[in-house]
Amino acid sequence: MMVEKSQPVPDLLAFVAIGSIAALVTILCTVAGNYPGAKPLLSAVITGLGAGTLILFRQLRKAANSLTASKSRARYVATHDTLTQLPNRTLFLERLADAQRTDAGAPSDASLAIFCVGLDRFDEVSEVLGPDATDNLAIEVASRLRTACDEHDTVARLGDDLFGVLRSGQGTDFAGEFAADLIKVLSETYAAAAGQVVVTCSIGASLVPPGLGKPADALRHAKLALSSARKLGGAHWRCFEPAMDLALKSRNALEVELRRAVAKGELTMVYQPQVNAKGAIVGVEALMRWFREGRAEVSPSQFIPLSETCGLSDAICQFALRQAVLDAQKWPNLKVAINVSAQQIRSGSLIAMLTELLQETGCNPRNFELEITESVLLADESDIYQTLHAVRRLGFGIALDDFGTGYSSLSYLRRFPVDKIKIDRSFVSHLGQQPESSAIIKAIVDLAVALELKVLAEGVETQAQADTLERLGCSLYQGYLFSKPVAAGEIDAMVAKRVKRAA
Ligand code: C2E
Ligand code: CA
Ligand code: CA
Repeated sequence: MMVEKSQPVPDLLAFVAIGSIAALVTILCTVAGNYPGAKPLLSAVITGLGAGTLILFRQLRKAANSLTASKSRARYVATHDTLTQLPNRTLFLERLADAQRTDAGAPSDASLAIFCVGLDRFDEVSEVLGPDATDNLAIEVASRLRTACDEHDTVARLGDDLFGVLRSGQGTDFAGEFAADLIKVLSETYAAAAGQVVVTCSIGASLVPPGLGKPADALRHAKLALSSARKLGGAHWRCFEPAMDLALKSRNALEVELRRAVAKGELTMVYQPQVNAKGAIVGVEALMRWFREGRAEVSPSQFIPLSETCGLSDAICQFALRQAVLDAQKWPNLKVAINVSAQQIRSGSLIAMLTELLQETGCNPRNFELEITESVLLADESDIYQTLHAVRRLGFGIALDDFGTGYSSLSYLRRFPVDKIKIDRSFVSHLGQQPESSAIIKAIVDLAVALELKVLAEGVETQAQADTLERLGCSLYQGYLFSKPVAAGEIDAMVAKRVKRAA
């Protein structure tokens, strides 16, 4: 670790005081020369002054030294992490700026490398371990990082679960090797009081060619690369690419626009009919749309996940529920399915929203079902179990969306209160092309029958698919063959037309 520079004794006061005494002594010496009778008295005074000067000088030096020490202590505290004693973000950025200045004339293939090392699932681990063991874990991580780096590198703690490494004069190939080494070293088991713990890390690297870029940008780039590495599921590393920055910027722009669209009520709901084996409409699925004037529509697959990362998910869920319930007042004989995201189930606000909606509109909850994806059940948290039971107690049904795409498991189908399974479109679209698709659909239908659940096939586009599905025992369908999602105002006419056709 680098040592902070000590300050010179800066005591102007000492110079002034000693200078004044020296001047006084000189005057006294001159006086003594002119008045020989006063010599003994004057020499005693001069000796006294000399001794006083010495004492004053030593006192001033002591005071100046202690001032220097407390200044460098204050500087140390301001620039280091108190737990691990590693440099903090401030010092990391200073060192980065210094290194960029020093490296300005280095060969172009000798880049400055910045690594952001993020511990994976740190919140979960610290919840399990408790605060003391988590602190020990951070200290151990710091120590492993120091050992893995060499003395010229700067290793810093940039946040609770975030560390930084700075290395100068490296070729591009090196970054991958070094990152892979760090992942290996940090992933070895840690000994905690509760037993052995494994904590992996993800790494984002940013290489700054000599003389280019600003320190804060370089660190931001490494963090962007880290987020991208984290999406790979842990224990991966990624090097920064300009596309990551562009993606983030366009995501931020979309977020601003979505916020405005929600506030201005620019989102709407459309409805896709669900039909029975006779082709009669028995229900609709409510799907959200964001039409932007003069510009391309944004898919809900894009803006719904975005809303969940920027605090808009409650507002969006509330809008979908409310609008679907209001529109459904015109269709007392149809079941209306409303999509509810996994985050909404976990957030805890869903039950309050539904209760308020029932009081406000007086709607019959049995006419509605909430569509959730399998991933919600996978989390296997007791909160989710309770929320889903509360949904059922209020009278709403529950349909399991995109069934077959996750880890479809019999045990959670039995444990959780589900009324309907929706077979994912991917199986339906492969019917007639991949023999296993019809085997899977048959297995899902048998499962549904055994558990007394309804089963609906999504994404039915051709009559051949509908026929095969019927043969496999599935008698509820949704897909472009019957209708694309349409505006609420079109549903009544479609119901009437289909009733006629079914008759
Ligand atoms: P999802 O719930 O699986 O909805 C079915 C999607 O498949 C819809 O896309 C629908 O338009 C499309 N689809 C229906 N039939 C066919 C077909 O025959 N062929 C093809 N190729 N596609 C078909 P959409 O409306 O773009 O929605 C995409 C996803 O966005 C939905 O998938 C759902 O996960 C989510 N979503 C939509 N609206 C909402 C909402 O109000 N709240 C929440 N949380 N999610 C929503
Ligand atoms: Ca759905
Ligand atoms: Ca679906």
